[in-house]
Amino acid sequence: MSTDFHVVGSGLAGTLMALYLAQNGYRTELYERRQDMRKIELPAGRSINLALSARGIFALEEVGLKDRVLKQALPMRGRMMHDRASQLTFQAYGQPHEHINSISRSYLNEVLLEAAEAAGVNIHFEQRCLGYDFTQGEALMEGPQGKYALKDAPVIGADGAGSALRQSLTQRVRVNYHQDYLPHGYKEVTIPAGVDGAFQMEPNALHIWPRENFMLIALPNPDKTFTCTLFLAFEGAVSFEQLQHAQAITNFFETYFPDVPTLAPDYLKDFMSNPTGVLSTLRCDPWYVKDQLLLIGDASHAIVPFFGQGMNAAFEDCTLLNQALKTHGTGDLEATFKAFYTDRKPNAEAIADMALDNFIEMRDTVADPAFLLHKKVALALEKRYPEQFASRYNMVSFQRVPYAQAQLQGRLQKELLSALCKDIQSPEEVDWSLAETLLQNLTGAAS
Ligand code: FAD
Repeated sequence: MSTDFHVVGSGLAGTLMALYLAQNGYRTELYERRQDMRKIELPAGRSINLALSARGIFALEEVGLKDRVLKQALPMRGRMMHDRASQLTFQAYGQPHEHINSISRSYLNEVLLEAAEAAGVNIHFEQRCLGYDFTQGEALMEGPQGKYALKDAPVIGADGAGSALRQSLTQRVRVNYHQDYLPHGYKEVTIPAGVDGAFQMEPNALHIWPRENFMLIALPNPDKTFTCTLFLAFEGAVSFEQLQHAQAITNFFETYFPDVPTLAPDYLKDFMSNPTGVLSTLRCDPWYVKDQLLLIGDASHAIVPFFGQGMNAAFEDCTLLNQALKTHGTGDLEATFKAFYTDRKPNAEAIADMALDNFIEMRDTVADPAFLLHKKVALALEKRYPEQFASRYNMVSFQRVPYAQAQLQGRLQKELLSALCKDIQSPEEVDWSLAETLLQNLTGAAS
């Protein structure tokens, strides 16, 4: 039987896309350069856990995996800030019923692989894609048996931020491509469970140690550990470059994160043995060539992780591509790819920019009293006027409002919040009649 789609990359996006395709009756082959992750121990490196929110949950619900995945997730209801004196301040993400979810990357990927196989997807491990030959219309592959080509069916490229398929695409004329590296890298450190086997910190929060130009964050895991990620500049006065020796690392943690050495006794070993990851924003335009190739997920629009949206956006790609295939069909696949791309590109740009903004917000401003007041007033507005006001964070994380719309609304809201917070110290002092007038203006400006 002939193949309808080849999908390259059995990470989060590729496996979910293959599952969507198989559930809709398309004969789908999935190729992955690594071994089957269900059979091997994974090396440390990419984030161990991820924040899963509305867009990702919606996609999982569509393929029938929502309940199974959420059972293994830990709700995070807000940010728990740790200051330099180890004092804690909690800032809710939304109303009491709203939260994001910490989920294990490997668990989620394994559930998707299992479901894709059960739906009839053939998964081929240890098959590396080398690129795409647009003249011949085939993807070039290499496995233990040697080289071969994938032909006679369109290729969906979900081979991640280092995509070989994107490299071939960007060598074509009239393809725009930028990769902007962040001057910061990241490294993971584990906070183990306590001696009593319990969490050592509040589990239903995303912990942040904001330190202006850098920060540490921690997400809870079901085994009662936390995975901490340090985001720090590669070079400069306080940077990875300066942390080459045990003493320098110890001094750094004791100075900036004084509660961590007690919580994570092996932090030094973790720090010295775990790799330092790079972070970048990828912008590619377009993401498709004829009916031959379409990129999704990080392959087309990798973003920095500060809004917790890379995977959620990649999952939303799958939802929207699935919808485009249902609406436009496969008769003219180039038109279907074009429709998907045209709709999705401005939203990918918007979340890329908002993720960069959020780095500044998390590391510099979450500890700033004026910022905290804005957040509290925004929550009070959401509670009082649920039909008229949803903060940018709410629209991005708890709704499926297109990212570009959330970005625009967010800009307008900044002005509204500045006006309402001027000369007040707490949400109780808000002038609600002014709030109503400003909200009416906001609705008018956004429509
Ligand atoms: P990937 O997950 O990278 O999968 C690509 C797959 O393709 C892999 O299996 C790879 O082995 C395979 N592959 C690569 N090259 C080839 C090849 N040549 N041939 C065959 N196979 C190939 N997102 C969130 O939503 N929430 C978060 O909290 C969050 N936190 C993050 C924290 C960090 C530190 C980082 C770095 C990222 C985070 N992200 C988060 C982003 C998220 O990890 C990515 O957006 C997501 O993994 C993208 O999925 P993908 O399937 O497109 O790519």
